[in-house]
Amino acid sequence: MTPIWRVDVITTFPESFAGFLEVSLLGKARAAGTIDVRVHNLRDWAEPPHRITDDYAYGGGPGMVLKAEPIVAAVEDLRGPDAWVGLLTPQGRPLRQTVVAELAARPHLILICGRYEGVDERVRTLVVDEEISVGDYVLSGGEVAAMVVIDAAARLVPGVVGDADSLVGESHAGERLSHPQFTRPDEFRGLRVPAVLLSGHHARVEQWRRAQALHRTQRRRPDLLDRRAPSDEERQLMQEFPPSDA
Ligand code: SAM
Repeated sequence: MTPIWRVDVITTFPESFAGFLEVSLLGKARAAGTIDVRVHNLRDWAEPPHRITDDYAYGGGPGMVLKAEPIVAAVEDLRGPDAWVGLLTPQGRPLRQTVVAELAARPHLILICGRYEGVDERVRTLVVDEEISVGDYVLSGGEVAAMVVIDAAARLVPGVVGDADSLVGESHAGERLSHPQFTRPDEFRGLRVPAVLLSGHHARVEQWRRAQALHRTQRRRPDLLDRRAPSDEERQLMQEFPPSDA
């Protein structure tokens, strides 16, 4: 089977990805050949014999900077006609579900992981298509950020999540959080599962879930409703089914 989604990761710590790529959905999708994720050691493109990948910052300062030459050489080796090159950086475009969907739709991603003080600015100029941030905080390296991108986007690649219906009501799909979930037993420490979920009435269950998702979004993330206001039908559902955890 030809993979429909390929990712090449360029990192100075390839071992960080070992367990992550082997388990659960990603492990299965790789084994099935649906996706192809390859992790490359930046040192393989660094000048022998010492294969140094970082150097002092021009202008001074305590931290090291990843050198441009090995990163650009790695990208030029790995890049095919359909490749999109992303640099993980806290200065990048914030990763939202809409961005994740764009990345899942691209056939080939090359992800560059920074370390220390970051990467030589000329990497951005020469080979990077877009810079991506996974949040407004600073990680020690781009590896965890690359894993976030790979994990979130792989879920949207057709065939990775077995039942595609399970993606439909997920949090952040369509600017909504998901509804609350319950499993057995139906009563735990005096807390009962909402009766509608035990009713076997599938249409009512679906309406209740949509209403709870909207109430929860309104309370926790009103900014999402600002992005896509509730429709008349959604407003009616919210009136019919009050918040279950008010
Ligand atoms: N000196 C940089 C700055 O202030 O913008 C931060 C460097 S950080 C310690 C080292 C590397 O971690 C970065 O080059 C980047 O690859 C990665 N990184 C840190 N925070 C990140 C974030 N929020 N999103 C994506 N990558 C991040």
